[in-house]
Amino acid sequence: MPRISRRSFLMATAGAASFPVLNGASVAAETDVAIIGGGAAGIAAARRIGAAGRRVVVLEAAEQVGGRCITDTTTFGVPYDVGAHWLHVPESNPVAKLALRAGVDIYPAPPGQRVRIGRRNARESELEEYLAVVARGKRAIEDAARGKVDISCAQAMPKDLGEWQPLMEFYLGPFGCGKDFSELSATDFARSSERDVDAYCRQGFGALLAKLAEGLPVQLSTPVTKITALGRGSFLIDTAGKGSLQARAVIVTVSTNMLLDGKITFAPALPKRQLDALSRLRLGHYERIALEVAGNPFGLLRDDLVFEKADNDHTAALLANVGGTSLSFIDVAGSFGRDLAAKGPREMTAFAFEWIDKLYGADVRKAIQRTHATQWASSPFVQGSFSAASVGGQPSRRILMEPFFDRVFYAGEAAHETLWGTVSGAWESGERAADAALKAVVPVTGSRAAPTPVKRQKKAAPKKQPRRQSPSFFGTPRISND
Ligand SMILES: Cc1cc2nc3c(=O)[nH]c(=O)nc-3n(C[C@H](O)[C@H](O)[C@H](O)COP(=O)(O)OP(=O)(O)OC[C@H]3O[C@@H](n4cnc5c(N)ncnc54)[C@H](O)[C@@H]3O)c2cc1C
Repeated sequence: MPRISRRSFLMATAGAASFPVLNGASVAAETDVAIIGGGAAGIAAARRIGAAGRRVVVLEAAEQVGGRCITDTTTFGVPYDVGAHWLHVPESNPVAKLALRAGVDIYPAPPGQRVRIGRRNARESELEEYLAVVARGKRAIEDAARGKVDISCAQAMPKDLGEWQPLMEFYLGPFGCGKDFSELSATDFARSSERDVDAYCRQGFGALLAKLAEGLPVQLSTPVTKITALGRGSFLIDTAGKGSLQARAVIVTVSTNMLLDGKITFAPALPKRQLDALSRLRLGHYERIALEVAGNPFGLLRDDLVFEKADNDHTAALLANVGGTSLSFIDVAGSFGRDLAAKGPREMTAFAFEWIDKLYGADVRKAIQRTHATQWASSPFVQGSFSAASVGGQPSRRILMEPFFDRVFYAGEAAHETLWGTVSGAWESGERAADAALKAVVPVTGSRAAPTPVKRQKKAAPKKQPRRQSPSFFGTPRISND
């Protein structure tokens, strides 16, 4: 087996903890914590462990860090977020908070969305009707989530929502969660936190994550194939052709679909409890068709978000003039997005052209220059978009947070109860797993020491209860039709 050279690691800064080189020989190289996957969760975990002065290595299968949050600057010559693009709730978003120091600009997304009805914008009164249907849909899900038995969001819907129902379902279901209402747990939806205030990264969300990974000991192009518990708090990690590594704790951050597909095997086998939890948190589907458009044939502002009053689920969202560049995104999702993506980029682009013709006329098509369509569903190291629980699956998120084999910790967007499906959720989950791994590898000291007398504490004033998080997903859309 080849020996890895230090050059295939990202540059390590002087401040970073030391890291071993994978060893193809029979004696494996050693580290305190091995992190499998260099997406948001893996980067957050590695920063935390490095800052604590422990040895850490990130093994990443792809040629770059970022996972589902990457920015491509070569296809169009401007930043193109191939995956995550919206920084939700920037005031509390842990990644947004690090942007300034990383030298990346964050700017607020324009409030409001537009709705198209055929070739015209929806009128004020029509938008009022739509907003009322969104509010009713969300309320119905929240009511259902208070019931004893979980049901799907589709089952929770009142029967008289009328002609705005398809758009409301697209907005809250495929667009917000990557799955159709019929596949979504009402409880999981209701537990997710509001994501109705957004920001964007001028250089790209993926560029921000890549900045935050600078200096970390990341080994790229290194797919992990097997994790073996050797006993006595030691693990052997095998990779595809890049040797093996021994670690005292492991943080696994690959997507739920990757684990379900058996891309990484475990010895002993992954416990049934974890397997069942993973299968209830399969990834949904969310794909993007990026268009390079000359001029502004849509007549829209920078970062205008547009939906259509659809009469079925064959619909999309348009994000126009992304960051003031020539790029516009057509996003498709849910089962329609999955089926369209399965037909390939050519069919996806054809759909985008027809959809634009329908809403803005055939002239826009003449201004389109280059295009690109994502294939997240078949991407070798992700296989989907983000997790959304199936009916009864919400408690699985907590199960994923439990360590298995004593010192193997799962982290990633699926292991966050309220911020699942987001970069910030993955980040927080990575930090939590890092804290648990650090606790596991730090030797317990002073256990035989005599107990120190505890001073009598004054009775503390009763703690103020934290404000209950609003139990709804994605917020109420704010609409603009100017
Ligand atoms: C199209 C799309 C749009 C999205 N939009 C948004 C958005 O606007 N805002 C938002 O907040 N979130 C969005 N998300 C969700 C967000 O991108 C994810 O929730 C988040 O990036 C997940 O991070 P993670 O670390 O949990 O997983 P990942 O990013 O999947 O990281 C896991 C890493 O593990 C690596 N890996 C896989 N297998 C192996 C292996 N065998 N060995 C080693 N490494 C391996 C992968 O290559 C990957 O880098 C979007 C996702 C998609 C797909």
